Amino acid sequence: MSGFMGNNGMGTGSGYYSGQQNCGGRSLVTVVPKKEFSFNCVKLVEKPSRLDGELGDNITYECSFCGKSVTIHHDMRRACERMSGTQHFYCPFCIRHGLHTRNSRNFLALSFKGITNYCFDKYQNWGQKTEYFDAIWESIDTHIRVGLQNPAFIYDRDTMMWYIDFSKVGKGKKKVKIKDVLKTVINMLLCFNLDEHVITVRMSKLYQKYEEAIYKFYRNRYRPLDKPKLIPTMTGCGAVTYNTGMTWRD
Ligand SMILES: [Zn+2]
Repeated sequence: MSGFMGNNGMGTGSGYYSGQQNCGGRSLVTVVPKKEFSFNCVKLVEKPSRLDGELGDNITYECSFCGKSVTIHHDMRRACERMSGTQHFYCPFCIRHGLHTRNSRNFLALSFKGITNYCFDKYQNWGQKTEYFDAIWESIDTHIRVGLQNPAFIYDRDTMMWYIDFSKVGKGKKKVKIKDVLKTVINMLLCFNLDEHVITVRMSKLYQKYEEAIYKFYRNRYRPLDKPKLIPTMTGCGAVTYNTGMTWRD
């Protein structure tokens, strides 16, 4: 940013001479330039800026892999740009976990947000007690602890998204078995205590949604183009919506 410093007014020595003359009893005022205008030099001075050419301290970007908006300091933005390459921009989380490399095709993005959204919806619309609200958050914390016990799972708290690294899953000696992936998913589902809170829920239907999609990805690295992330909802699993008037067990 440049500043404007110095005296830009009419400089010293500029001005007019004025005087009076008497002409036939009438007073005339004459104005005579004393000398030419002179302007002082104007100096444009580069003021030091802590932004170093950036528009602001923090800049928001959208990650090319996970799609989340990240607000980061411009220093770290440059670091992420260097590691992302020229075509894309990846967030620190994705770079940290190798989701910006070709290996990203082996990651299945999934979430339990369909369940937590349902629970929060119930809390808001059914006059649930504060204890229920706290219980939902406890369930979320528990399912994080359970999921992170599996070394093929990583979790992004910002987006509540899980990523299973299927390059670590298989039949080899140093691989996580697919049945252990599914076992982790079951245990994570159980953290939400849906049997207690949603009287009509059919857990097997809900689990089936995860199981089928996970097997397809394991075998074919397949996800539907319009649904790249696996986020099953409670639809078709026996759960009711709040405006149906059906009974909840509390
Ligand atoms: Zn990302």
